[in-house]
Amino acid sequence: MFSDRQTALRGVHHKTFVFVSSVATSEDKPSGSKKKAKKRWWRRKNKVAPSPEEEECSKEEKRREGPEDQKAKMMGAKSVSTRQTRRYKCRGFPNPAQFCYMNSCLQSLLTLEDFVGAFRSQEQVWSSDPEAALIRAFMDIRESHLSPDAHRKIRLLVAFKEAVSVWAPEFQDFDQKDAHEFLTSVLDQMRSLCPQLQAAAASEGRIYSCPVEDHLVFKMQKTKTCKGCGAVSITEEEFTNLSLDLIPGGGTVEEMLRCYLKETELDYNCECGATTSCQRLSFVNLPKVLMLHLKRFRFTPSFQLQKVHDPVDLFGDLVVSSNQGGGCLSLVSTISHVSYTAECGHYICDGVDVNVAQEDPTDRWFTYNDEEVTETTGKAVCDERKNVSYILFYKRHD
Ligand SMILES: [Zn+2]
Repeated sequence: MFSDRQTALRGVHHKTFVFVSSVATSEDKPSGSKKKAKKRWWRRKNKVAPSPEEEECSKEEKRREGPEDQKAKMMGAKSVSTRQTRRYKCRGFPNPAQFCYMNSCLQSLLTLEDFVGAFRSQEQVWSSDPEAALIRAFMDIRESHLSPDAHRKIRLLVAFKEAVSVWAPEFQDFDQKDAHEFLTSVLDQMRSLCPQLQAAAASEGRIYSCPVEDHLVFKMQKTKTCKGCGAVSITEEEFTNLSLDLIPGGGTVEEMLRCYLKETELDYNCECGATTSCQRLSFVNLPKVLMLHLKRFRFTPSFQLQKVHDPVDLFGDLVVSSNQGGGCLSLVSTISHVSYTAECGHYICDGVDVNVAQEDPTDRWFTYNDEEVTETTGKAVCDERKNVSYILFYKRHD
């Protein structure tokens, strides 16, 4: 069905048709492309060239463009979605040798645009520091995210892996690794550079603020109460992520968190002579991005690694309470381990389209399966990753 305005304008002369087409493109496309269009307009107006990656990606688009694309281009609105399709397809990472665990971790981190932006805005501090090779390697990958050049991406991925392996030699070979161990190692290493970068920044009259600490680190409080005398001891510990036990038979992430935080009894020798105490955990504060690791691997009594397939009911929103008040968070990325056994398997990542606003009804996400990138929705991710989700990233609402 056509609207009255469209019916009235159909079949009229060329100039008017162009007007209809421009209405369709500016009204129908999602906000992400609006942002890009605005950016292109700004560049034209200010005579700024597109970034090399954007340029390269659009060249690749043109190379692949067939007669159908030409026709789509004539249709105005349709060409916008065709262009978007091509653009996100450039975002994949090749997998020459069991890189899927690293590729998935990188895609998830790149979905955290504020975290990445915090590195970008402090480039002057880390770009010249000889110790900050890991951050440079990460940001090089960020800069080539949209590049269709697979060879260049492989070089950058190998360089990143080598940078990680300097302090974590277990990632040096080309075997399959655990994505959670890799990710925590990457974040810990980025964080460990903080004192040095802060000192380097201070010597030049600048301030360096660690993006890992600002976005992912949070504090947990451990309250121990002696069962005999009631003496209370409180300690605090910092985390970049929590490892949660799955609920046998299935459960929600909120239920898993409740289990993690619930009071437990433990052996503890108190001065009063009592040998047991109660321990309770609570969030002191909530991070901007909460990373949750679901314990899908466990050792059997005979030390065989086993995969746990219990489903996790995923929802877009998560409510978490902390000592500083509650917070609402939204799922923005997942890393999944797709396989039946623990020994072999493949990692994939799902991530929200950062160009689409949180309330946008399109709910546009991408599935990153190494070099293959496909469009999906947050709802589909929640439905399809129940049995395979391994690491979840939740972004706190401001
Ligand atoms: Zn006691």
